[in-house]
Amino acid sequence: MNRTLTRLAAFAVVSVLAVSCSKDMETAPAPAAAIVSSDATATRDNNLALGNPSGAVVDATNSPNNYLLTKSQYSLSYSRDKGKPNWVSWHLSSAWTGSTARQDNFASDATLPSGWFRATSSSYTGSGFDRGHNCPSADRNASVADNSATFLMTNMMPQSANNNQRTWAGLETYCRTLSDAGNELYIICGSYGSGGTGLNGFTTTIAGGKITVPSNCWKVVVVLPNGSGDASRITSATRVIAINTPNNQTLATTWGSYRTTVDAIEAATGYDILSAVPSSVQAVIEARADSGPTN
Ligand code: MN
Ligand code: MN
Repeated sequence: MNRTLTRLAAFAVVSVLAVSCSKDMETAPAPAAAIVSSDATATRDNNLALGNPSGAVVDATNSPNNYLLTKSQYSLSYSRDKGKPNWVSWHLSSAWTGSTARQDNFASDATLPSGWFRATSSSYTGSGFDRGHNCPSADRNASVADNSATFLMTNMMPQSANNNQRTWAGLETYCRTLSDAGNELYIICGSYGSGGTGLNGFTTTIAGGKITVPSNCWKVVVVLPNGSGDASRITSATRVIAINTPNNQTLATTWGSYRTTVDAIEAATGYDILSAVPSSVQAVIEARADSGPTN
């Protein structure tokens, strides 16, 4: 946003003074193009730039089940009573990825308010469900600190193995393919409902009732060519991928089978996803299911 305004102001000055153009201006000959063009530089942008879907706030007393946790690697709404996130939001570009090894250091999140249940690395043991990352390990592997952040238990949901390791993993991999190709993505995902089927059959909770097993795991992905002023350059033509998957062992392997609309996920969850995007644009991109390539 600020950079877009700066560019527009700079363009006006350049036009008046008729001095030589900056590098940005050479690739953006008109003000309109300055808003929509990309400079192909991957950056790390605000993980919540497209909005806070549930209006989560840092208020342990009044909002324990829609509690905002902000980390440099991702932001999330946490539910104390469900022992898992409602949703997690993050930005993905090649500026976030590197060659750091997967740390596998699952750990309780000490930033939760004192007195709240904190899932530990062993809370899912024997449950028949995977410790399913919301923000994936491989989306944050430029440093040990970044990768370790994804292993906090506040980033996990009880997810069936076939969902986590096949269907869900397939979309995660595809997102990184898009990022590696010069795009930046805003990804918001979460889980809702009660009751899923894992390796030991159906259950509604694990960890002695402290963690709810969701019935559905959903994800929304907004794809933009690398650039700046992201929320303001999303148009009715921007690719948006939304999926809603069942949390069971019999789901299809292919994530493309579960494509739906953002509107449908909003109806199921009560959230306003992509709320920072102009309403007129949301109306179009949230009503359209993706039909693009899946790998
Ligand atoms: Mn950007
Ligand atoms: Mn919306």
